[in-house]
Amino acid sequence: MDLSRFPRRRYTHGPTPLEFLPNFTKALGGPNVWIKRDDLLGLAPGGNKTRKLEFLVADALAGGADTLVTCGAPQSNHCRITLSAAVKEGMKCRFVIEERVPGSYRLDASGNNFLYRLMGVEALTVVPAGTDMQQAMQRVVDELAGQGRKGYTIPGGGSNAIGGLGYVACAQELQQQFFEQGVRIDRVVVGSGSSGTHGGLLAGFLGNHIDIPIVGIGVSRDPADQDPLVHNEAQAVFRLLGVDKPVPRQAVLSFGDYWRPKYSVPNAKMVEAVQMLARTEAILLDPVYTGKIMAGLIDLSRKGYFRKGENLLFIHTGGAPSLHAYEPQLLGDAPVAQ
Ligand SMILES: *Cc1c(COP(=O)(O)O)cnc(C)c1O
Repeated sequence: MDLSRFPRRRYTHGPTPLEFLPNFTKALGGPNVWIKRDDLLGLAPGGNKTRKLEFLVADALAGGADTLVTCGAPQSNHCRITLSAAVKEGMKCRFVIEERVPGSYRLDASGNNFLYRLMGVEALTVVPAGTDMQQAMQRVVDELAGQGRKGYTIPGGGSNAIGGLGYVACAQELQQQFFEQGVRIDRVVVGSGSSGTHGGLLAGFLGNHIDIPIVGIGVSRDPADQDPLVHNEAQAVFRLLGVDKPVPRQAVLSFGDYWRPKYSVPNAKMVEAVQMLARTEAILLDPVYTGKIMAGLIDLSRKGYFRKGENLLFIHTGGAPSLHAYEPQLLGDAPVAQ
């Protein structure tokens, strides 16, 4: 797959590390677990959205935009990383924040919300759950146009065909690392939300003939709702790259449940996963995404779905700033859902 035809900005120096987790593997007592450190991508601090934004921001700049307009939840990693890219490019940035849990937006909240203000978001509109976000962002772009400015909208999570190219690039980076480090992976575990990461990685694996199954862990939906999104995303990436083949529906696989009771609301398995990685490997997961994704990996290993001795690769997609918005829950000082 030839990505060199697409404009791209670079926000990370070199590949992110591919590492074995010896202490965590021992504590888990099942599969051998490797990690792709996409929490160490560039921008402040980086995460999976960094890869998508390399292509999205390049597209915005190519079209003459001066302002990035995007949307997300009150503690959105995606909004924070988009703002960080805008700052680096000398652009402005505006958000539409969806209050998925009513009353949950607080101007003085810590975590990502603090970083929005520290890095100087230009404007931020809070709307209730269920609002048409595309329309809300378009209103911001229209307002900018009235002032002679040019906004570029980026969908939630940066998940469209252009953003998905970032995870095709990750697939190619992994292929090179497997080769250079002599690593043989049996299955990959990745988070599945707005689906640019899961869908882009799947398109990249299929398109580069990397014959390793990908297991998604839903962070906000069960498979009946999640899998079609991932399939659409992978198809859109194929089309943009000119791959003249359908993405096989059976290549899309995800697990639900681990995100419950609700997107971004803590549960006991997430707390265990965050503590376990912090205490065995000094790796920081986050409460909203990677903690729940790793909870899925742990639970599926204990149940024998991931087998003893199998080589698993966990994609660490970032998110650590929101740890600070959930400190009492993560230390066991406040109750969480089972
Ligand atoms: C956005 C995000 C995800 C989910 O990725 P999608 O591409 O939206 O599916 C996973 N982990 C972290 C830390 C994220 O910020």
